[in-house]
Amino acid sequence: MEIIFATHNQNKLKEVQDLMPSHVKLISLDDLDFKEDIPETSDTIAGNAIQKVEFLRNRFDLPIFADDTGLIVDSLDGEPGIYSARYAGEHKNSEDNMNLLLEKLTNNNDRKARFITAIALNLNHNQTLFEGICEGTILKERKGKKGFGYDPIFQPDGYTKSFAQMTMSEKGEISHRAKALRKLIEYLKEVN
Ligand code: IMP
Repeated sequence: MEIIFATHNQNKLKEVQDLMPSHVKLISLDDLDFKEDIPETSDTIAGNAIQKVEFLRNRFDLPIFADDTGLIVDSLDGEPGIYSARYAGEHKNSEDNMNLLLEKLTNNNDRKARFITAIALNLNHNQTLFEGICEGTILKERKGKKGFGYDPIFQPDGYTKSFAQMTMSEKGEISHRAKALRKLIEYLKEVN
């Protein structure tokens, strides 16, 4: 079965393809030579994943899935949320994003946060949503060098290290994205 994964990121594509059941072949937006900007204007993470799938589904006659992730900090009313990638500006710089978040949380001891990944799948004209959540706290300073995005300042509950101090496989056991992906994969195995 061929499925479009709405991403231009070849690393993400490879990582996800490796986890897929053998009957599923992923096709990226680059494979399709698709260069249009896909709107992401919803005010929720799930809404943005759905919006991406909706935008693409009339253009291609294949099943499609799209993902969207955000970091939610309770004491900041859910910021950065849907703005996670561009929290400190459209240049989408992770160091600047982390600095802004640390600054906003200065002297704030309520540092509870969670990552949420939503994956929207359009298959046989049905739309299904899969969600993965990883609960944790925002550290007071960066720890570790691995990973990407907010990894150095996010410590998942039950651990004494940040995501950026974990190996890819350690993070892959507990991460929001892995959890959502595992739900999608189980679903696809059953559809066959
Ligand atoms: P995307 O929807 O996967 O592009 O994620 C949006 C933004 O959330 C990214 O640009 C990162 O800043 C952040 N993000 C997503 N996933 C992770 C993660 O696993 N660790 C740290 N930051 C993440």
